[in-house]
Amino acid sequence: VRVGLYVHIPFCRTRCHFCAFALQIHRPDRVQRYLAALAQEIELHAQRGSLAGRQLDTVYFGGGTPTVLPVEQLIAILDHVRAAFSLTPAPEVTVEAHPDTVTGESLHELVRAGFTRISFGAQSMNDVELLSLGRRTSSNRLRAAVSLARAAGFTNINLDLIYGVPAQTLTSWVATLDTALSLEPTHISCYALTIEEHTRLYVDMRRGDYAEPDAVLQNEMEDAAAAQLAAAGFLRYELSNYARPGYACRHNLLYWQGEDYLGLGPDAQSYLDGRRFGNCADVDRYCHALATGQLPLASWEVLSPEQRWRERIVFGLRLLEGVDITLVDQVPADRTWRKTLADLVQRGLLENQTGKLRLTKLGRRFADSVAVALI
Ligand code: SF4
Repeated sequence: VRVGLYVHIPFCRTRCHFCAFALQIHRPDRVQRYLAALAQEIELHAQRGSLAGRQLDTVYFGGGTPTVLPVEQLIAILDHVRAAFSLTPAPEVTVEAHPDTVTGESLHELVRAGFTRISFGAQSMNDVELLSLGRRTSSNRLRAAVSLARAAGFTNINLDLIYGVPAQTLTSWVATLDTALSLEPTHISCYALTIEEHTRLYVDMRRGDYAEPDAVLQNEMEDAAAAQLAAAGFLRYELSNYARPGYACRHNLLYWQGEDYLGLGPDAQSYLDGRRFGNCADVDRYCHALATGQLPLASWEVLSPEQRWRERIVFGLRLLEGVDITLVDQVPADRTWRKTLADLVQRGLLENQTGKLRLTKLGRRFADSVAVALI
């Protein structure tokens, strides 16, 4: 079983209008306190042998906006991770980035320090849409940041895109995809916009400034992305993720293939040896717990063998190739669960083909309901 490490950086310069994540606006004093807490969390896991001598195959710096931190702070965290745990000879080390928070020099330093993959939160290549999402940047800045990243030596570049943005049309979404492809990334993630409570978009929508995203249009946009990216040589390997051959995100595959991961930082989740645990989401509470020498755990459970099998299947179904049918056969006998599975096949949401159980095209539309039924 492979193992990966997630490092959460819960700071951004400003909050996007669709974002409901627990984060803080970046301020150097907040970051100092946070980095001390994060270092303490790394030490506590090292002392407890949480990874028990295992080698990390992936490290993922996510947020938030990791690159809002000065590059030396990011490198210091990675160095601490290397000193406390061991890594495989060729790990995938990803950093999420905002185009406005990188320079040619900082990108070179990240590559020199061992980061191998960069993921830009592009969201849209249309400046009016970026404004409606509260992204104070422009498509030109993204274009410049991607070319700086490539010049610095990043050969594995992801762009995150969102569809169903207020006032977005099918034509403008197709144009965003075209522009994104012209930047020659190795990986593209396409997420449907969801309006979360307590976000600026939610408030604007309730006031009547925007209509809710249109589900039919979002489905058309999803189909357009699948067709356009396939034509450009990208493989859709997960419901929202497309990659050039050989560039699927190794870290995210850990989650979908039921492998192990340790998460550091507020709200980070971990799954190790059948135990699942999660940190408290609040940054202040997280820092306070670690300042007193405690792991900031908010939840902890040991999964039963049944739960472990079911979860492997449910997460694995997010992958377009599905899960081995032999895995399904190993789920401890449970007549109700097997009947639910048979019903989903009967209703055309799941199919059993060439030794794999997978979502059908219809099933992909209702992936969340299928997951709820099977978990
Ligand atoms: S950059 Fe990402 S994490 Fe930060 S506010 Fe925007 S959506 Fe949220």
